[in-house]
Amino acid sequence: MRYMDIFDVIVVGAGHAGCEAALAAARLGKRTLLLTMQIESVAMMPCNPSIGGTGKGQLVKEIDALGGEMGLLIDRAFIQSKMLNRSKGPAVHSPRAQADKQRYHEEMLRALGAQGGLELRCAEVVDLLLSNDSVDTVGGVVLQGGEEVPGRAVVLATGTYLNGLVHISDRAWPSGPSGLRASVGFAENLKRRGFPLRRFKTGTPARVLAPSLRYEEMTEQPGDDVIEPFSYINEGKYIGENRASCWMTYTNPEGHKIVAENIGRTAPYGGHTTGTGPRYCLSIEDKVSRFPDRERHQLFLEPEGLSTEEVYIQGMSTSLPEDIQEVFYRTIKGLEDAVISRYGYSIEYDCIDPLSLLPSLESKKIRGLFFAGQVNGTSGYEEAAAQGLVAGVNAARLTDGLAPYVPDRSEAYIGVLIDDLTTKGTEEPYRIMTSRAEFRLVLRQDNADLRLTRAGYALGLASEERFLRAEAKRRAIEAALGYTVYSNGQGANACAVRLSSVRAIPDSSLPKTRNSLAFLPSETGSLEEPRMKAEQESATAQTVGFFNGNELCGIAAAPAEAHSASIRPLPVAIDLPLPEELKGSVARQVEIERKYKGYIEKQRRQVEKFRKLESKRLPQDLDYGSMDGLRLEARQKLSAQRPASLGAASRISGVSPADIAVLMVQLARRERS
Ligand SMILES: Cc1cc2nc3c(=O)[nH]c(=O)nc-3n(C[C@H](O)[C@H](O)[C@H](O)COP(=O)(O)OP(=O)(O)OC[C@H]3O[C@@H](n4cnc5c(N)ncnc54)[C@H](O)[C@@H]3O)c2cc1C
Repeated sequence: MRYMDIFDVIVVGAGHAGCEAALAAARLGKRTLLLTMQIESVAMMPCNPSIGGTGKGQLVKEIDALGGEMGLLIDRAFIQSKMLNRSKGPAVHSPRAQADKQRYHEEMLRALGAQGGLELRCAEVVDLLLSNDSVDTVGGVVLQGGEEVPGRAVVLATGTYLNGLVHISDRAWPSGPSGLRASVGFAENLKRRGFPLRRFKTGTPARVLAPSLRYEEMTEQPGDDVIEPFSYINEGKYIGENRASCWMTYTNPEGHKIVAENIGRTAPYGGHTTGTGPRYCLSIEDKVSRFPDRERHQLFLEPEGLSTEEVYIQGMSTSLPEDIQEVFYRTIKGLEDAVISRYGYSIEYDCIDPLSLLPSLESKKIRGLFFAGQVNGTSGYEEAAAQGLVAGVNAARLTDGLAPYVPDRSEAYIGVLIDDLTTKGTEEPYRIMTSRAEFRLVLRQDNADLRLTRAGYALGLASEERFLRAEAKRRAIEAALGYTVYSNGQGANACAVRLSSVRAIPDSSLPKTRNSLAFLPSETGSLEEPRMKAEQESATAQTVGFFNGNELCGIAAAPAEAHSASIRPLPVAIDLPLPEELKGSVARQVEIERKYKGYIEKQRRQVEKFRKLESKRLPQDLDYGSMDGLRLEARQKLSAQRPASLGAASRISGVSPADIAVLMVQLARRERS
């Protein structure tokens, strides 16, 4: 049976990636179908009951700044909030909040239900539908039972369910996380269609019941006195109190001995699993075997919510047999009488090689098919949600024939995440960290709105309220920093720059951000005038630029698009009063800019250098195989991956600076010919 209506975007999976993807596509006006095998899995947290942490907190702030949902949800479902690394520099400050898992799930269901143009449906996808016009273009999905659902773009966000196999000791059974069903048929069909699937795994600890814990034996870890919301919409506003604490304790040699004696009975050490596990989220058996001399390992007891007694034991994931788990956990101070409500387990699942994706997260193999989340080889709710948002936006833009949105490494942690995946790939579950972001001093958790909300607004995703709050902050910061404030006489708080010309610019000299439609108001405060000018001056140009002298301040992909729905005239009131509640964050920005001026300026110069290499686009038909001077490994890697820019080529492992030099010569020769 065939669904009569065609959806613009079909999203397979309602985990953290799928929900952000579906909301983004629907908010861009697309008729969107969100499919999941079980409603319980909607934004489910099968592991740690928290959102954020080092690097992850930055991702959540960026998702929020672009107009995504995760930041708003955790501001409603948090039970404890902390800013990690507060004693260190702002580049590594990372917000983290303990979540009420059930409330988080319910809040996402509410957001999905409230979103126009979005249908949520429980059904299992077992295959892809290819378009009638061409076999390498997606045409929809096939559901269990044979029903065909046509769609113009499809986002796969299947998480840890594809061929999910749960392990406890030497026993294994097909399952998704938390006892939900695994998705088997689909994985087989993806393999049959030649997608590069590989096996990863992750694990989770047991859950214990709060009344059975001896809190007096452990160290309380309360939240911060001042709660900083994740969402910029809530910045400076009251969002509630800390309502729960976490507790810290340690393992000890007695427990380590029990683990060591039974390590052969765990799934990985007993040779029962084939998947590759996460390096930064070790199981207790990994810790005992890799650090045999360590006397103790730290762990945190984290409440799973306010309406449950279950407590998560962070740092203690395991696939030890149940009877040994009982004995082992009770050796830990504070858990002597612990009652286990769920045993720890490990799960292996199929995921794809992200090198098979374009930076837009579209498959290189099938047009219109996007992948997001754990299925791309990452681990973490935040990493999944960030990819989901980008894949959802790009699936929607593809249906309008628009260029994809791809933030780069100098603009966002989201750019670092996606570039690492699609340029370097990953051989184990990938977790974001501040150390992965070379430009982390300018990619801070406190300025994501100043970096990204314009792009989010120009894409049509971020609301006007968000945009105006960010612009009011920007103006106040620039005025306080004594930037030459351009005044059009309508009050002091005005735009910081002025457009001096609008002209066509050739593709080759276009900065990579071509895909992010960033605008600054002209002196009249609206975009109409420059756009008309662009219209007249460069009807044939691919791209027009808004210049202040030679500085490119804004671009539009193509004049024609200047009138399409994807660009909204900016209702920029020159005089943007700064809301009282934002004064604190403006003061903090000014303080950081002043205190770290030298470092920030140095980093901004590094960003310019990076963008120069990124702006050197590499034609997709380059014949690397016959390029003299390139080493064999570089020829093979470049031919296989076909990087979009010289910058991306330089990040492929096995491509040396000497190879890049050869490429630059070849490119220059090509441009001259
Ligand atoms: C046991 C375990 C331990 C973990 N430990 C950690 C950790 O310590 N740290 C960490 O950062 N992350 C951890 N994670 C990972 C974290 O849960 C995931 O990163 C995150 O949930 C991924 O989100 P996602 O949206 O990609 O997929 P998921 O949240 O897994 O959601 C996938 C969705 O796809 C749907 N689906 C799948 N196949 C089909 C199909 N064929 N048809 C229709 N719907 C389908 C499912 O129903 C579900 O809605 C762990 C996960 C598990 C399971």
